Amino acid sequence: MLAGKVALVTGSTSGIGLEVIRALAGAGANVAMHGLGDPAKLTDMCHKIASDASVKAIYAPADLKKPAEIRSMVKHTADTFGSKLDILVNNAGIQFVSPVADFPEDKWDDVIAVCLSSAFHTSKAALPYMMTGGWGRIINTGSMHALVASPYKSAYNAAKHGIAGFTKTLALEVAKNNITCNAICPGYVLTDLVKNQIDDTARVRNIPRESVINDVLLADQPTKQFVDPKDIAALVLHLCGPHSSSFTGACLSIDGECTVC
Ligand code: NAD
Repeated sequence: MLAGKVALVTGSTSGIGLEVIRALAGAGANVAMHGLGDPAKLTDMCHKIASDASVKAIYAPADLKKPAEIRSMVKHTADTFGSKLDILVNNAGIQFVSPVADFPEDKWDDVIAVCLSSAFHTSKAALPYMMTGGWGRIINTGSMHALVASPYKSAYNAAKHGIAGFTKTLALEVAKNNITCNAICPGYVLTDLVKNQIDDTARVRNIPRESVINDVLLADQPTKQFVDPKDIAALVLHLCGPHSSSFTGACLSIDGECTVC
């Protein structure tokens, strides 16, 4: 389905992004993996993805707090695959849990940089390739926190609400260029990001881990199940697939019918 396409997925070294990049490669796209970690290990992961799916896969590093590194990552990806970049999944994210009154300023800046500003920098750098290619798909991993708020996650909620606004704006700007831009808004997915939050929230609220899972995280998720990252990857594939051209500017919930979203 995606043979000949080139996809860059930020934050694809673990969690949701890793499922997404595997799915895109499985559908035939050449892929660029991005995220933090040991470059040798991540390059090995790329070799495995490439051989499993019979595509090309590279590791394209960048600290998403540094716009110059982001621009280099996008250029490196496009240069590697013949000045081409068709699919951009802005997926990387971090979390920090604290009441506003105690929220460290540097943590605020980090969350906004990684969860929001990086999507602007990647998109700006990727758009010329999509314009030249006459086709593009930009998919931002939002969150149900793009639609509603939870206490103690002010930076994350602000960044994800910002992603919703950025998605709708970019979709309008490129609507006539055969480029779509959507946000996927998952409920809770049991990845490293959430495993860390369970401990942080237990500490901030002074409650046991089990209560954080059942009474806080999954309180408004009636299925009482974490979202499966494979379901998110399947939605990404659909948004890149043959019947996707009118899906644009949307914030698509995938949250077990979150009752507050
Ligand atoms: P994860 O911790 O497994 O993955 C995060 C990725 O971002 C990793 O690849 C990491 O290396 C990368 N990253 C973090 N900081 C970076 C930096 N400064 N520079 C470069 N890369 C950096 O988390 P996940 O749960 O898979 O989250 C992926 C996305 O999904 C995030 O945007 C997150 O906000 C969103 N999301 C997650 C959940 C959930 O419940 N897990 C729910 C809704 C939305």
